[in-house]
Amino acid sequence: MTLRVVAALAAAMVVAITGLMLTFTAAKLEVAPVDVGALPVASPPAEMSISELATGTYETPAILAYRGGSWNDTRHFASTAVLVRHPRGNLLLDTGFAKNIDEHLKLIAWIQRSPHRKGVPAVDQLASGGIQLRDLAAVVPTHAHWDHVSGLDDLGGVPVLESASGRRWIETKAAGTEVINSFRGVNYKQYNFEGGRYLGFPRSHDVWGDGSVVIVPAPGHTPDSVVIFANLPSGTRYAFVGDLVWQTEGLEIPAEKPWPLRRLIGEDDDEVRKDIALIRFASKRYSQIHAIPAHDASAFRAIPVFPASAR
Ligand SMILES: [Zn+2]
Repeated sequence: MTLRVVAALAAAMVVAITGLMLTFTAAKLEVAPVDVGALPVASPPAEMSISELATGTYETPAILAYRGGSWNDTRHFASTAVLVRHPRGNLLLDTGFAKNIDEHLKLIAWIQRSPHRKGVPAVDQLASGGIQLRDLAAVVPTHAHWDHVSGLDDLGGVPVLESASGRRWIETKAAGTEVINSFRGVNYKQYNFEGGRYLGFPRSHDVWGDGSVVIVPAPGHTPDSVVIFANLPSGTRYAFVGDLVWQTEGLEIPAEKPWPLRRLIGEDDDEVRKDIALIRFASKRYSQIHAIPAHDASAFRAIPVFPASAR
């Protein structure tokens, strides 16, 4: 190898490393205003309520959570289930960590594992609050990654609402679906997005037909990702955006996840950007809408902790 070739290789490496580092630096995502349309009609029953069941956290430095985050700012990613109580049936949005979370972690790629703290699994919290498995109508995952479906292991038999397209993706056994595919006999209950436009999202599925819980497709983070709107009798509306962004800064700055992480997950960047814009403008136009990224523990503070809300 001549000196000139060595110099060229060294220069190329410096350029590549510098380019990679730049993908972690602050860069505001440019999002053009979008028309989210009228506020959808919702007639939730007076008895409807929501509460959160924190089941554990895992550590991630903010630099890996959104562009411009700091290496020294450790975020404790929430793994939280949300109970929606409704007279037609109680729903659990995501499941949090199962009793068996340590075994589940062994199923995922080492690069996706982080130090984690275990809390009380959702199934035990529900039982101590007087809710048995038979009292749950369904689990609605925001998507099928391990940290959102681990708890299905403890919830055997409870129907799992998945869209037809989401189900097809899970059946491909794609990277990221190892944990859900390790469970035997998941009781999938398939739905279609048969409803019309919803806050700019092209289609929707109204779970109870009263506008209280509405699911829209958001296939950017994963092909089965959805946003779940829970519209309360008080008028407050929550948009559970799953992993569209990992921390609230993703919507507020707004800022994408760092490029290497997006590639590792296999995200559809254009779809994620489109959906960030829709959620951002929906919550700006309608102050009653609050977006909750699945892993932002501080965003959950607005939601009563189970079972305190039952008292
Ligand atoms: Zn997640």
